[in-house]
Amino acid sequence: MKICGHDYKVTIEFADGMKREDDKMWFGQVRISTGVIILWPKAKRNVQEESLIHEVIHAILSHSNSKCEHDESMIQAIAGGLYQLGVGRFLWNIAKPKKVK
Ligand SMILES: [Zn+2]
Repeated sequence: MKICGHDYKVTIEFADGMKREDDKMWFGQVRISTGVIILWPKAKRNVQEESLIHEVIHAILSHSNSKCEHDESMIQAIAGGLYQLGVGRFLWNIAKPKKVK
């Protein structure tokens, strides 16, 4: 998928950093420099879709020239709202996430 003109691939796999931290589980990661979004394999599909939106928002903010902070609670609130509008399914169909072992 293209985000702000940059190619991204979306994978479903276990990745470094996806572990408990202060009782919070990270369900996704975005790597701006390599153009990769990683989703946690054990999450349910709806959670993966919402995580995809969340990481896409991070990528958009990173590629914009704004110096805005990546406020996690704000990003999650927007991701949740967009998920309710069906944006998760929409992005999923574009990104076609691939399972990696
Ligand atoms: Zn985040």
